[in-house]
Amino acid sequence: MNVHSEVRPRTNWAGNIAFAAPDFYRPATGSELQSVVARARQVRVLATGHSFNDMADSPGAQVSLAGLPPEVELDSAGAQVRVAAGLSYARLASQLDRYGFALRNLASLPHISVAGACATGTHGSGPANQNLAAAVAGLELVTADGDVVELGREDADFPGAVVHLGALGAVTRLILDVVPSFQVSQRVYEGLPLDVLDDHFAAIMASGYSASMFTDWRAPRLTQLWIKSLAEHGTPSVTEEPWFTATPAPSARNPVPGLPADNSTEQLGVPGPWFERLPHFRPEFTPSAGDELQTEYLLPVGHAVPALRALHQVGDRIAPTLRICEIRTIAADELWLSPAHRQDSVAFHFTWLPDTAAVLPVATLIERQLAPFAPRPHWGKIFTTPAADLYERYDRLPDFLRLAGHYDPAGKFRNAYTARYLGR
Ligand SMILES: Cc1cc2nc3c(=O)[nH]c(=O)nc-3n(C[C@H](O)[C@H](O)[C@H](O)COP(=O)(O)OP(=O)(O)OC[C@H]3O[C@@H](n4cnc5c(N)ncnc54)[C@H](O)[C@@H]3O)c2cc1C
Repeated sequence: MNVHSEVRPRTNWAGNIAFAAPDFYRPATGSELQSVVARARQVRVLATGHSFNDMADSPGAQVSLAGLPPEVELDSAGAQVRVAAGLSYARLASQLDRYGFALRNLASLPHISVAGACATGTHGSGPANQNLAAAVAGLELVTADGDVVELGREDADFPGAVVHLGALGAVTRLILDVVPSFQVSQRVYEGLPLDVLDDHFAAIMASGYSASMFTDWRAPRLTQLWIKSLAEHGTPSVTEEPWFTATPAPSARNPVPGLPADNSTEQLGVPGPWFERLPHFRPEFTPSAGDELQTEYLLPVGHAVPALRALHQVGDRIAPTLRICEIRTIAADELWLSPAHRQDSVAFHFTWLPDTAAVLPVATLIERQLAPFAPRPHWGKIFTTPAADLYERYDRLPDFLRLAGHYDPAGKFRNAYTARYLGR
């Protein structure tokens, strides 16, 4: 059966997880996938492997959907697109734009697969922008016995099935909401003092379609502030906004200190299509630093300033292991396992040096500092939050387990990650 050891990834993208799955399959058709799943004792989909933990590993088989036809079927009248789940946002976005359509938002990189991103609640920024999974209007799933199930917004359990951590089955197609294509321009500002955020955090975050704050915690200031604006609204100017004690960057920047701007999307206020501005990183280059680990925590946006202060208190413990910290906002949604479930959220993201032993205690320290705000970790990154805390912070987790038991009664899609964090 279709084992492709020559294309088999041995590790995740970051290289910190060596996959232990003894078997690997790369089916070329939906029916081949159905028989791989039906026959496997244990199985998990591996997409582009950009998660920083072992969630895509399996004690049995890993299956890649990269060999399935890369379908993109647009329903212009219904403003929806049906896509093959293994497609990357980079491939989908340029096609969609050619048809005159767009996705509302994107993550910092377009390299990741649509299915992998939605499975983990991956997000971009913007107070009115929900995470990428919130665009999912329907999905097709190959369940443990090899059957194909279709779910849509009309199904009661649908909000439980969209952010699924790979635990319900193999998602083969997704239907996404689309909007008319739009133009975005971005500007980078530097050196905003942290205490300006005490009174202006929400205003700054709302000053563009999407905004990202960066700090290295080495001084009480933002290293950079990225504002992505809808081109028809123009870009904010220094004199118009009272919070701009920061200076506009005179040339293009990379958010990661010390790295060249070549892999970053175009800045300096030059308008361009949504998919070439909403991510920070260009598809043709390695995104971010490449040599790194990541953690991220989401909490109610109303706690953003006290949470910033709590992190500032331990800035000297964070800084030595850190490349850069990014702060974003995400609008609430109804998806059971979304880290923004029913709360408008602020996200504190940390791009670390590639040193797991150094990162883990700092992650635990951050979790302790943020504990009063009940932070929900990004499912696809490194965290040490115990399962009991996750159960307190996700009230629909028991319902999700029931759903997993329904589609996967024998636990084929279980792995060490689900055992650790879901107790299943
Ligand atoms: C440089 C970099 C930048 C990042 N930036 C952001 C960011 O801006 N915002 C953010 O929120 N996150 C970000 N992430 C995290 C990333 O978005 C998530 O880890 C995402 O899940 C990666 O998608 P993937 O396609 O690589 O999925 P994988 O890592 O391959 O898989 C993730 C999970 O989804 C499951 N899965 C994948 N496809 C399927 C399928 N078809 N059916 C069933 N299960 C499936 C897997 O089994 C696994 O459990 C970043 C990661 C990197 C490396």
